[in-house]
Amino acid sequence: MKKVLLAQSIYAPAIELLEQHAEVVLIKEGNMDEFKKHLSDAYAVIIGTSIKFTKELIDMASNLKVISRTGVGVDNIDVATATERGIYVLNTPGVNSLSVAEHTVMLICALAKHVIFLDDEVRNHRYGSRRLYLPIDLQGKKLGLIGCGRIGRMVAEKCMRAFDMEVIGYDPLISAVPESIQLVDSIEEVFTDADFISLHVPFTENTRNLVDNRLLSLMKSSAFLINTSRGGIVDETVLASKLKEKKIAGAALDVFSKEPPDPSSELLNLPNVILTPHTAALTQECTARVAMEAAKGVVDLIQNKIPKFIYNKEGVL
Ligand code: NAD
Repeated sequence: MKKVLLAQSIYAPAIELLEQHAEVVLIKEGNMDEFKKHLSDAYAVIIGTSIKFTKELIDMASNLKVISRTGVGVDNIDVATATERGIYVLNTPGVNSLSVAEHTVMLICALAKHVIFLDDEVRNHRYGSRRLYLPIDLQGKKLGLIGCGRIGRMVAEKCMRAFDMEVIGYDPLISAVPESIQLVDSIEEVFTDADFISLHVPFTENTRNLVDNRLLSLMKSSAFLINTSRGGIVDETVLASKLKEKKIAGAALDVFSKEPPDPSSELLNLPNVILTPHTAALTQECTARVAMEAAKGVVDLIQNKIPKFIYNKEGVL
């Protein structure tokens, strides 16, 4: 029987599906020694974002035919080397968009309404501070999207329908977007004009540190940055200093350049930033959906069928 290696536990019915077709080896998340031990004869691996599937790991996996990601971003996989070796890289585009969009909208609301701060005030018997630091309304505020793909569009739709927000977006790789978004020609326009700037681009060599000192300096002092895409897209050191100096109003981050972030990261000690541990897609429903898709792709290949989502299709088919 072919061996399928799970880098962490996933939705039980997805494991049951795999067990009907393969020997499944479940590794405790983070146990790299155990993971590496099983790599040499693994036919497939199913991974989240916590493992970096580097050339070094690919070199250890001489029987590997498929790397299946329970999510959309493949920036933690050396896709070029995998493709060279004829290894399928599968992901689950669109399957987690809704959950990430909802999480993004939640962060926008939490920033606007000062929910973390106010909760803390009540718990610490500072009820009188309710008039000291007033929240803002979302109606009529401008949302600026960087990246207008699946998640960006859903965020736009929800913010427009629920809050009557105006939405502008920058995405040089597409020419048409739904009516809810007004496409603009420059990224600078988004950073200068928007009240909430939300990032929805993949992490690539072109987007590494895309949000740097120059762009952050364009933001209004009343504006907020939301990042639910990937940590490396924002220069976190510059962001922390802008937040500290109150050059921008606040930020909400679900992703970090290093996960988990270093305990010494300044971001952890700033009151005007809301942090979540890369959980935008980790809802009960979404973890079930992506696990089933990731498992189905592996089963398809075991059965000599073509999986629905092959990220490196051009290189392996
Ligand atoms: P998508 O491919 O549908 O959309 C990405 C968009 O970014 C595309 O329209 C593309 O044209 C655009 N783009 C690429 N480079 C750009 C640039 N330099 N400037 C502006 N636009 C650019 O992807 P998606 O499904 O919307 O997901 C977006 C990203 O969100 C993923 O790549 C992933 O890293 C991240 N994500 C995070 C989580 C999480 O748990 N926080 C979950 C899912 C996805």
